[in-house]
Amino acid sequence: MRKKDKKMKEIVIISGKGGTGKTSLTASFAKLASDKFKSVFVDCDVDAADLHLILKPEILEKHRFISGNEAVIDPDKCAACGRCKELCRFGAIIQKRDGRYFIDSGSCEGCGVCVHFCPSHAINFPERFCGDWFVSRTRFGTLIHSQLAPQAENSGKLVSLLREEAKKKAAVESADLIIVDGSPGIGCPVIASITGADAVVAVTEPSLSGLHDLERAAQLVNHFNIPLFVCISKWDINADLSERLQEKSLDYNATMLGRIDYDEDVTLAQLAELSLMEYKEGKTSKQITEIWENLCQQIVN
Ligand code: SF4
Ligand code: SF4
Repeated sequence: MRKKDKKMKEIVIISGKGGTGKTSLTASFAKLASDKFKSVFVDCDVDAADLHLILKPEILEKHRFISGNEAVIDPDKCAACGRCKELCRFGAIIQKRDGRYFIDSGSCEGCGVCVHFCPSHAINFPERFCGDWFVSRTRFGTLIHSQLAPQAENSGKLVSLLREEAKKKAAVESADLIIVDGSPGIGCPVIASITGADAVVAVTEPSLSGLHDLERAAQLVNHFNIPLFVCISKWDINADLSERLQEKSLDYNATMLGRIDYDEDVTLAQLAELSLMEYKEGKTSKQITEIWENLCQQIVN
């Protein structure tokens, strides 16, 4: 993986699950970052990309994302012997009523076994188109983002590609910061989102599942030895659980950045396709500004 400029910092915002306000916070960070720093933004939540809805990018470059191969039967060559169906361990090969065979591209894992063993050499193995990725201009800076094709997988690979392209772009632009809207959960895409980053900000909320998700995310971030910061969204809907989240964060050597209270303006800002910082100045936008300044003090400055 390409190395970052020593001064350039990469901050990844994650959450244990979707719906915690991760993308809203990323958009607010984008606005705050643009006031002081040259920044590049990346939407690595590739399975549910939505940062573009707020950043409203103007697409400058469009690239195809190709990953692996898929098997496709040539009906003119197929002798309908059924050997491929016997061999496919993923149940991707289906026999039609007329006795012919076809491959369900959504189930094909691209292992190539059927291609190798087809006695009639009737199976083609083209590269698999998995979506597009883009370099775009936004009012806050360059955005690297993507659109996965329906049924496309390999989102971890796409996340790695987007981060790599962001680093190249940031180097060209002499950017100070890369801000990444990471994938939720703890699977392959989130691992691809955080490896090698300078800081991870975990956004969580006061619920039992939030507590559980924070633990899992913190274990993952600790495993990769990356500085972990936590902010608690909707703090005031359950202050007791918020306190427990705060204590739990300390168990994982995380630094508490601050709290964000429940505020319907967060939703209204999303509906208006704006970051909260642009939508309305109020208590919540001040809390987010404080969180951002805390983070900058520890990571950027
Ligand atoms: S193994 Fe080849 S010839 Fe036999 S059914 Fe499959 S594609 Fe057709
Ligand atoms: S390439 Fe592998 S997974 Fe795909 S249809 Fe052939 S045997 Fe099945």
